[in-house]
Amino acid sequence: MKLHEYQAKQVFADAGVPTPASTLATTVDEAVDAAEEIGYPVAIKAQVQVGGRGKAGGIKLAENADEAREYADDILGMDLKGLHVDRVLVEEAVDFVNELYVGVTMDRGEGKPVAMVSTRGGVNIEEVAEEEPEAIAREHIDPAFGMHHYQARKVVYDAGVDREVANDVAGVLKTLYDLWEDKDGSDAEINPLMVTADDEVIAADAVMNVDDDALFRHPDLEAMEDEADGGDELEQKADEYGFDYVRLSGNVGIIGNGAGLVMTTLDLVDHFGGEPANFLDVGGGAKAQRIANALDMVFSDDNVDSVVFNIFGGITRGDEVAKGINQALEQFDEIPKPVVVRLAGTNATEGMEILNEDLVTVEQTLEDAVERAVIYAEEVEA
Ligand code: GDP
Ligand code: MN
Repeated sequence: MKLHEYQAKQVFADAGVPTPASTLATTVDEAVDAAEEIGYPVAIKAQVQVGGRGKAGGIKLAENADEAREYADDILGMDLKGLHVDRVLVEEAVDFVNELYVGVTMDRGEGKPVAMVSTRGGVNIEEVAEEEPEAIAREHIDPAFGMHHYQARKVVYDAGVDREVANDVAGVLKTLYDLWEDKDGSDAEINPLMVTADDEVIAADAVMNVDDDALFRHPDLEAMEDEADGGDELEQKADEYGFDYVRLSGNVGIIGNGAGLVMTTLDLVDHFGGEPANFLDVGGGAKAQRIANALDMVFSDDNVDSVVFNIFGGITRGDEVAKGINQALEQFDEIPKPVVVRLAGTNATEGMEILNEDLVTVEQTLEDAVERAVIYAEEVEA
């Protein structure tokens, strides 16, 4: 789960990280009232879970009520990288002399968490990470011991942070690490951590992503879930249906049972020159309703041009799946996107005989099925 900026800031502030005064607003009037209350200048910030809101026009600084009204009106309702903005955070604007980056994430290569600090924070940190990785100081942490104070200070000094603020920055980093660990975080990040002329540090942005499978241990975070996942309709739907789903950027919709099988299908789509639109694992026992739900997912994704079903029957029987696919598709007056099916394993032959070929294309092998789906998708694009 990705927390919104305002939620992550709340979590960080509760742990003692300095954050600017702020109020969440859902209407222009609320935003203006909040700005009046906080005092100008204020930053008006779109609350959607994408990086780079600043560059995309989702963050504006207002000097007075007229500007607050104008900018809140611009930002509320805007489409920011495909996400609808329905909330803004109105925040005391920080007058800064420096923007730092501090973050904690899992370094899978090392198999350890890594703490990162850079004096090159702000909106260009992705480019810095890409082009000058040495401008980001790193320190691996042994999860058995947690972050020692000396490690926090070391990485802050390695990054070249000014002495005047180094201690405070190290304190913020240590708090961030402890939160990351306590809350089962996957990423925790403050970018920018602003440094003011009088050497105060203050978190002007906040990112906190937590492991969904650990949410049951954190009722406080679980309570934030509804609002947090408001971003992507399809991911919300997947949650309701109980699917493992990840939206991707291509146009070939993929449905399979079993994570490994679905990943293999993604690879094959790529192999045949297509681009996967999603990862969707319907899990075991794919009965008609589950299949119908899976189809509803891929059909309601505007990016999807064709669909490939890759089902391996183990305990899930091929004839059951075939009935499910037929029943699901019979609900449509018109099949909105071409569907290709490959069945293997238990009762696959029976399954293929049952499948209604007026509704789907049946292929005998996985390669043929994927290639067919890629061709269908190309035809739609052409
Ligand atoms: P992101 O682009 O989605 O990461 O959003 P951020 O919250 O990091 O904001 C992007 C940029 O907007 C920052 O790097 C700042 O340069 C600017 N910004 C954000 N909040 C403030 C603020 O309170 N005061 C000032 N002066 N600039 C801000
Ligand atoms: Mn940021």
